[in-house]
Amino acid sequence: MRKTKIICTLGPATESPEVLRALIEAGTNIFRLNMSHATHDWVRTVVKTVRTVSTELNILTGIMMDTQGPAIRTGDLDAKLDLKVGDILEFSVRGEKSEDIFSVDVNYPGLIHDISVGDTVLVDNGVIHLKVLSKADPHIRCEVLTPGTLGSRRHINLPGVKVNLPPLTKKDLADIEIGVEVGVDFVALSFCREAADIMELRRVLNASGSSARTIAKIEDQHAVSVIDKIITAADCIMIARGDLGVECPMEELPIIQRLIVKKCIRIGRPVIVATHMLESMIENPLPTRAEITDVANAVYEEADAIMLSGETTVGKYPVECVKIFDRVAQRIERSGGLGFADKAEVETLRHKTASAAIALANSLPDSRIVVFTKRGFLANYFSQLRPLKAPIFAITPSEVVARGLTLNRGTHPLVMKFEINPKHTIAAAEKLLVSRGLVKHGDPLIILTDVLAGSERFDSIQVRHVLEENGSAS
Ligand code: PGA
Ligand code: MN
Repeated sequence: MRKTKIICTLGPATESPEVLRALIEAGTNIFRLNMSHATHDWVRTVVKTVRTVSTELNILTGIMMDTQGPAIRTGDLDAKLDLKVGDILEFSVRGEKSEDIFSVDVNYPGLIHDISVGDTVLVDNGVIHLKVLSKADPHIRCEVLTPGTLGSRRHINLPGVKVNLPPLTKKDLADIEIGVEVGVDFVALSFCREAADIMELRRVLNASGSSARTIAKIEDQHAVSVIDKIITAADCIMIARGDLGVECPMEELPIIQRLIVKKCIRIGRPVIVATHMLESMIENPLPTRAEITDVANAVYEEADAIMLSGETTVGKYPVECVKIFDRVAQRIERSGGLGFADKAEVETLRHKTASAAIALANSLPDSRIVVFTKRGFLANYFSQLRPLKAPIFAITPSEVVARGLTLNRGTHPLVMKFEINPKHTIAAAEKLLVSRGLVKHGDPLIILTDVLAGSERFDSIQVRHVLEENGSAS
């Protein structure tokens, strides 16, 4: 059973029911909707299809809405601009393009205040480098440092510049409303720069009655500089290496990735390693050796999830990408990880009980952990502590909670009604696990549950062996 979760971004290559079915069968745990490209109608349709196919297959999958966030983009161009070293390019913040030199609009008027002479401007994923020579409202005059062809609506990165756009734009708020309407399980905040940004997202979700888990996308230097606060405030973290690799010196990227994974495991926030993991498979049926090694590295680090973007939105081999993720993850997991969970913060009594249950599971070959969790917190503790081998079966009465746990490493959420007496709940859970083929005769189950003593409930760790195929245990 694979522990590392797989996230696929949906797009034209993957939106049909047939491909979605194949992606789930190949092991996809979460589908991501990238709102920089998606329309509301498309969101409604594709979410319905994902839910229908998941139900048919009886496999839980989560859905993540990824906001566009405070992204700065160039405007439309009638013809592409062929920029050479030394050329002058002007950015116009109010649609008053100059006639006599290369000129393009930007979608953010405040840029002229945020930017300073001498700053670096990177366009189109860092391909075109420019330096700011001068600014005079409404124009920012830049010199081209590396050549490139500028098309319409390209992304602009400003390494080290603090951009004063709000964390959630009007577009983001409108998108989130649709996300809440269709019941997405995760909402990712692009370019999260402060803890307050993710708190704002949570406030918006709460106000509309959604309990979707928040994901802070770490995409620039400022976010890295306040990473502890952001990790504490967010439910989950995404290491968005696409933008991060442009905003920070590239050679820092592996260091930042490892640092963030370590910190997330320490305080128990699920963490996603994203972008360019199998980039060459957009065109090719097999990945490069370097890509395999990059995926393996994230699995060694024991990240919760690895993510596909272009590979599954427009790539030629989306299902093969998931199969490669699955194969590499399973193989690397067998060889053991870096063990960052040894430094996990374990403070409350419940958390310590979970830790003791894991020690027990680690000492019993072939054991499985069964945890009953109403809001998902206890399952999150178990996942954070990274049991060496034992899978975590997280039983919850709430489908929303179950889908939220699709991100947690090593966690297999199952929906089941709880009985009043915990004894009966345990018996029903065993039956469910046996009927799903998840446990078999003789398997040791480490069960964390509450027991009734008079009218009081206590946490208890029980060890049972599955006795018969019908699910009765002793
Ligand atoms: P994006 O975010 O795909 O929305 O740009 C991920 C990244 O930057 O890596
Ligand atoms: Mn990004």
